[in-house]
Amino acid sequence: MQKGNIGVTTENIFPVIKKFLYSDHEIFLREIVSNAVDATQKLKTLISNGECKQEAGDLTVHVSLDKDTITISDRGIGLTAEEIDKYINQIAFSGANDFLEKYKKDANAIIGHFGLGFYSAFMVSKKVDIITKSYKDDTKAVKWSCDGSPSYTIEDADKADRGTDIVLHIDDDCKEFLSENKIEELLKKYCHFLPVSIAFGKKKDWKDGKQVETDEDNIINDINPLWCRKPIDLKDEDYKKFYKELYPMSEDPLFWIHLNVDYPFHLTGILYFPKIKSNLDLQKNKIQLYCNQVFVTDSVENIVPEFLTLLHGVIDSPDIPLNVSRSYLQSDANVKKISTYISKKVADRLLSIFKEDRKQFEEKWNDLKIFIDYGMLSRDDFYDKAKDFFLFNDTDDRKFTIEEYEKLVKDNQKDKNGDVIYLYANNKDEQYSFIEAAKSKGYNVLLMNGQLDVAMISMFEQKLTKTRFTRVDGDSVENLIVKEDKKVDSLEAEKQEELSSAFKSQLPKIEKADFNIGIQALGENTSPIMITQSEYMRRMKEMATIQQGMSFYGEMPDMFNVILNSDHKLIKVILEDEEKSCKEASAPIQTEMNDVDKQRSELRKNHEGKKDEEIPTTEKDQLKELDNHYSELKKKKEAIYGDYASTNKVIKQLIDLALLQNGMLKGEALSKFVERSIELI
Ligand code: ADP
Repeated sequence: MQKGNIGVTTENIFPVIKKFLYSDHEIFLREIVSNAVDATQKLKTLISNGECKQEAGDLTVHVSLDKDTITISDRGIGLTAEEIDKYINQIAFSGANDFLEKYKKDANAIIGHFGLGFYSAFMVSKKVDIITKSYKDDTKAVKWSCDGSPSYTIEDADKADRGTDIVLHIDDDCKEFLSENKIEELLKKYCHFLPVSIAFGKKKDWKDGKQVETDEDNIINDINPLWCRKPIDLKDEDYKKFYKELYPMSEDPLFWIHLNVDYPFHLTGILYFPKIKSNLDLQKNKIQLYCNQVFVTDSVENIVPEFLTLLHGVIDSPDIPLNVSRSYLQSDANVKKISTYISKKVADRLLSIFKEDRKQFEEKWNDLKIFIDYGMLSRDDFYDKAKDFFLFNDTDDRKFTIEEYEKLVKDNQKDKNGDVIYLYANNKDEQYSFIEAAKSKGYNVLLMNGQLDVAMISMFEQKLTKTRFTRVDGDSVENLIVKEDKKVDSLEAEKQEELSSAFKSQLPKIEKADFNIGIQALGENTSPIMITQSEYMRRMKEMATIQQGMSFYGEMPDMFNVILNSDHKLIKVILEDEEKSCKEASAPIQTEMNDVDKQRSELRKNHEGKKDEEIPTTEKDQLKELDNHYSELKKKKEAIYGDYASTNKVIKQLIDLALLQNGMLKGEALSKFVERSIELI
């Protein structure tokens, strides 16, 4: 027996491997099985080019479990004692390099990617044996053993067949890896698509209500996965079946894209557009990243464009550097190229489906929209392509490309500044009457109720020239698109105030909602009252929910405008009736108010141009007193109109109708409304 020290620079390499090298201990199995597959592939190459004259025979790699050990056996090229010394003992020296140098053409078939692969066995083992016999003639079988310290032993072994057995003596604190279920799970996870058959135990059958082993190997992998095959040989059914294999519980996907590039990097894969039922689906199923059919990870952030992390499927590339930090990945040139390539491919595919079968594309639009939105928002290169197949959906469920829509509305929806106003609703039921009002003016109303539509609207306003979006309930229909300067409101200020006081007194108190009353002359046929919400404030609040640092807006109450139409018959009747009932009481107060107002205006005029310290204190006090007096009078007057309003059922009824239209009439208020309606009938 020979003894020696492994060629590492530090005594402490093993603890380092164990603790820090890989955060996931379970990947040891991937590494050891990959090596076995690697050795098998190498043998196949040697046989096919005549350098090895032996029969290949059954090349299945076997994984087996014992009480304390896991054994991985292959019938690949094996190792000679010299090779063990070179490839295993000299830890930093990776045998894959030598081989690749020699067989460059076949390089892709060889998994030599993971650097310290073999030594990851020590993450879970207290001792590792390699029992191996090289394919080379006249070589002896050898056994190498190492107990996790830098010293190893090497001796002759008893092994007739070519190939390698790796025996892992599992550490006491890693016993979980000795469970059959655990190993099966790991093999399924990491080795599901390895290119050489992997057997784990025997297939089981049900017999007399019991599971019994058969003679057949339990092969856990699919050696020729779909993404490695040629698209022309594949049918839709094959893609759907493969999708189910990847995500067993999911519905059929909408579309898929078969990726295949050789230059300037190697990449194959299949990306699926899934049918999303809930946000949960998005998080659960992820794109799986492979390196030459070895599963690497399903966290592909920074590797595929962010918006495509929502897709499903498989990407396989040996050109993605995997043993580097995630932040480094972002700046890696290959990764950037890959990202751009995938983004372009996805856009091209969508465009071709759109062109070839617009009907199908439209039918699937609602499911596709979230991906396309996200892509357009996050990448300019994707926006530039997607702008040709992005679809606006209107409230009648018709779909238009951006170009088509512009043509549709550009004449009728242009305002006095030449901006084209895109009207939209985000809730067809709640905004029904506004939508109808806009439509009756010949406007088109879009439905923008998608998860990302708030952001999409801002984006379109930046990208499309002279285009603005206004929510259809943002103002009365007359003011949504202002085509010429408005005629001045005919109702005099005093009357406006009185009408406002009456309505204001009857508005309900709603938590986190403020109402402003405004009076506009909107024509006889427009409704007498409506509630709108300022586009600006609403957007700020919407942004606050998705953006940090804007929470200030989120805290603010909702601001609603209550617009009274002074042209409407009902409002005119109220004005008259109000005048009759209140004038007598309010006229003397109004006279006094006018008087007070005159006095304070004069005082203020006197103070114009003077510094604060130049104004006598007595005058300051006087002004304060006048102000107080004025507000008292105002309150008194408001109370008169308030009292009047409380006896006027029509005012209450109108307010409730407006609230009802906006989904704001609830609970007790709603049942009172119903009672009152019956009374009025
Ligand atoms: P890498 O696979 O990156 O080269 P490893 O540490 O996993 O690094 O393996 C080191 C070397 O040991 C391999 O390159 C290969 O030459 C050899 N080796 C490992 N496992 C086997 C095996 N099952 N059969 C033959 N050779 C092997």
